[in-house]
Amino acid sequence: MKRSLQSLPAEELAGRRVLVRVDFNVPLDDGRVADATRIDASVPTLRWLLARRARPVLLSHLGRPGGEPRPELSLAPVAPCLAERLAAPVTFFDRCEGEEAERATRELAEGDVLLLENTRFLAGETANDPALAERFARLGDVYVLDAFGTAHRAHASTAGVASRMRPAVAGLLVERELEALGRLRDDPPRPFVVAFGGAKITDKIDLLRAFFARADAILLGGAMANTFFRARGLETGRSLVEEDAVELAKSLLVEAGSLVRLPRDVVVTVDPGDPEGEIQEVSTAAIPGDAAAMDIGEETRAEYGHEIAACGSFFWNGPMGRFEDPRFAAGTFALAGAAARATDAGAFTVIGGGDSAAAVRAAGLMDAVSHVSTGGGASLEFLGGGTLPGIEALEDA
Ligand code: ADP
Ligand code: MG
Repeated sequence: MKRSLQSLPAEELAGRRVLVRVDFNVPLDDGRVADATRIDASVPTLRWLLARRARPVLLSHLGRPGGEPRPELSLAPVAPCLAERLAAPVTFFDRCEGEEAERATRELAEGDVLLLENTRFLAGETANDPALAERFARLGDVYVLDAFGTAHRAHASTAGVASRMRPAVAGLLVERELEALGRLRDDPPRPFVVAFGGAKITDKIDLLRAFFARADAILLGGAMANTFFRARGLETGRSLVEEDAVELAKSLLVEAGSLVRLPRDVVVTVDPGDPEGEIQEVSTAAIPGDAAAMDIGEETRAEYGHEIAACGSFFWNGPMGRFEDPRFAAGTFALAGAAARATDAGAFTVIGGGDSAAAVRAAGLMDAVSHVSTGGGASLEFLGGGTLPGIEALEDA
């Protein structure tokens, strides 16, 4: 267990500069924040700090500037957006290290927040350069990690600086992620049902394997299922299949035995690209050679729904179909609904993955499940049994 912000006595925060690594990697549109979800997510930790008279100094990356300044990836547009959401003054400073930045942190007034420039404007950030981590460490007296989504990479503003500062603690967001994912990893209420979909098996192979040992049932869907159909020798027509992974899928099926469920039926179309194109539901064994499987079918939705209704805990990563097209959204929305009903009945339910989270949001069920992980790669790495360097570098509880 890692030390948390909530465990820090107020006197360790009052008047002190608290360097917070946040995740403000937000989409920008014409110099404005296009989606403020990640900015909103930082608000609880920042309010916590301001309420204890701490002086927050914020570090974040944005996009992939490749180690040099790129004006279109400046964090400047985030400052007014954060100020509005937080209802507190936010000052932007156009560097994130050096004497002037340090002076800006020392001059920060109580009640104000200082946002520094994109850490990835510096090549040392992703290289985890020790000299840069030292310079970051001079920007605060206390370190808080609240960017769970970057914790799986050892960068100067995460693992590098965290290992050089004490106290170094988990912010409210990170603490919630660790609690929810830790419970699933170490002690999931039984039966533990897992659903996997999305595009690629190879992205998620360690995770799949990790769940073979832990889950009571694994429900497969999405394009990933097509590769398993092929492994079973079924016709997949023009479906998206990961050719390089067919052999791997065969050995996974042998390893997993009856734990793994494949869809019995699928939604197919000969016009994947035409939103008006006709769709049809067929048995998995009868996918026409000129069609593509785009979603799980009705029988499968019912079967998976029953499985989820009876679970003690549920983890889901990867949409069941190409849900961005309403013709192929039924499977994904059915699972989101089943997860919400299971939660209502007392199950512990967690959704992970960027597209999966977007699907749950589109279904209006974000608050109807126990936890939606913002982590993406970091949550999958953590659940797969890997360690997260950004978390490891924090102080032990
Ligand atoms: P996550 O971001 O939740 O981890 P992935 O990135 O693995 O999920 O996969 C999401 C993508 O997979 C979505 O964009 C979705 O359209 C696509 N997808 C799912 N099923 C299919 C399918 N049968 N055919 C084509 N694309 C699919
Ligand atoms: Mg994705």
